[in-house]
Amino acid sequence: MHIEACKWYNDAHSPVLLMMDDLANTWVDTKGNGELELGGDWGYHKYAEQSAMQFLMDRILSQYPEVKVTFFVPVGERVGILEQPVLNQISLPINADEESKQFFRSVHEDSRFELAYHGTTHGRVGESAAEFVQEWSLFSSVEDARETIQAGMSIFRDAVGEFPQGGKYCGYESNDFSDDSIDESGFTWWCRYWNRGQNEQESLNIRGSDHNPLTNYDVKRFGKNNVVDIPSTLNGALLNGVMLPDASWKGRIKRMLGRGYIRWKLRQIDYLLRHRLVISIQEHIAPSRDDGKRQSPNILDDCDSLMGIFGYLSDKNVWHCTGSELARYVNVRDHTSVVQLNSHSFKLLYPLSFREQEISLRMSGSSSSRIRLPNQELREVKNGVANVPLQDGEYFMVEGDG
Ligand SMILES: [Zn+2]
Repeated sequence: MHIEACKWYNDAHSPVLLMMDDLANTWVDTKGNGELELGGDWGYHKYAEQSAMQFLMDRILSQYPEVKVTFFVPVGERVGILEQPVLNQISLPINADEESKQFFRSVHEDSRFELAYHGTTHGRVGESAAEFVQEWSLFSSVEDARETIQAGMSIFRDAVGEFPQGGKYCGYESNDFSDDSIDESGFTWWCRYWNRGQNEQESLNIRGSDHNPLTNYDVKRFGKNNVVDIPSTLNGALLNGVMLPDASWKGRIKRMLGRGYIRWKLRQIDYLLRHRLVISIQEHIAPSRDDGKRQSPNILDDCDSLMGIFGYLSDKNVWHCTGSELARYVNVRDHTSVVQLNSHSFKLLYPLSFREQEISLRMSGSSSSRIRLPNQELREVKNGVANVPLQDGEYFMVEGDG
C-alpha cells in the first residue's frame, strides 16, 4: 500500500473559484434620475430588486448552487474613474451604518461566499480613465501601504466581524513595496497577477514574470510568511462571442463556426483540468462606471458565458471553493506528512493548529473501503481516495465489513 496527499481536496482535477471584483457600498446612477437600474448597483442596494446581489443569486447561482464566490471588497469610499464624472455615484464605507454592516456580514457568513480585501478607495481618480492610479501604486513605502491596509482591515472587521484572510491588488497593479505590505499584514493568501493574457487578445495583460503555464496557473507562495498566491486564470467572458448575439461580422463568423469555436474556447478549461491547475473565473459585480463606459468583464454581460462555463464543468471532477478554503487545503497538504506503520495502518504528522482540518489521501494497493480514524469514527474510501480529519493516533484500513 502507498498513501499520499492529493493535490486538491477530494482528489479533484482542479479547484474552481468564481472571483467577483468590486462588491462595494457603491451605486452608479446610470439613468441619472435617482432610480436603480439593472447594472448600476455594486452592492449599495443590498438585496433589493435589480440589485447586483439579487442578479447574481437569481440568474447565476440558482442554476449552479455548488458554485462558491469570493468577493473582493474595496472597504472605504470606492472612488469612480474621473475627477469630473459623467454619472453620479454614491459611495460609502462598508461600515457606514448598521444596514450596510448587516448586509456585508450576511454575505460573508453565507457558506457559499467569502469577502476578501480589495483596498480602501481602489485608487485615485484622474482627468481621464487612463490617468486613474490603482491603490497599491500610490504607496511610497511598505509602512505607507501597511498603514492604509491596517485602517482598511479595521473597517472590514467592524462590518464583517473578523479580519479578511486574503485579497487582491486593485487592477492587479503593484510596486516594489506591495508584496511586503501583504506579507507583513498577516494575509494567508493573495491574488497578485492576472496570470492569463499576452497569448490571447485580451485587454488585461498584467502578469508576473512566469511564462510557463504549468506553474503560472498553479498556486505559488511569496514573502517570509509563505503567503499563498492564487492565480487568476480564466476570463468569465470566455464564451461571450458564441453565447451572445453579436451584430459584428466577427460575431457572425464565430456563430457560423458554431460548436467548433466553442470547443476551441473550451480548450482553455481543458488545459487547466488536464494539468490539475487552478480554474479561477474572473468577473466584476457590475458593468457601470461613472465615466459612462462599461466595465468588463461583468456578470450582466457575461451571464450566458458563465452559464456555459459552469455547465461544462458540471460533470467534471472539480472542487468548488473560496480563496480561503483553497489556501487552507494547500497549507494542510504542504505541511502534513504520512507515516506508514504497516500494510494496514498509518499516522499523520501535522502542525498542531491544523488539527481536525481535512486532508484528502490517495491509497494505492489497498482494497479497503473504509478507514477507522484515531477517534474510532469511520470514513469511506471511494475510488482509492478518502477525506479524513487530522488527528493524533493511528488510522486503520478496514477490510470487508470490519
Ligand atoms: Zn477592483
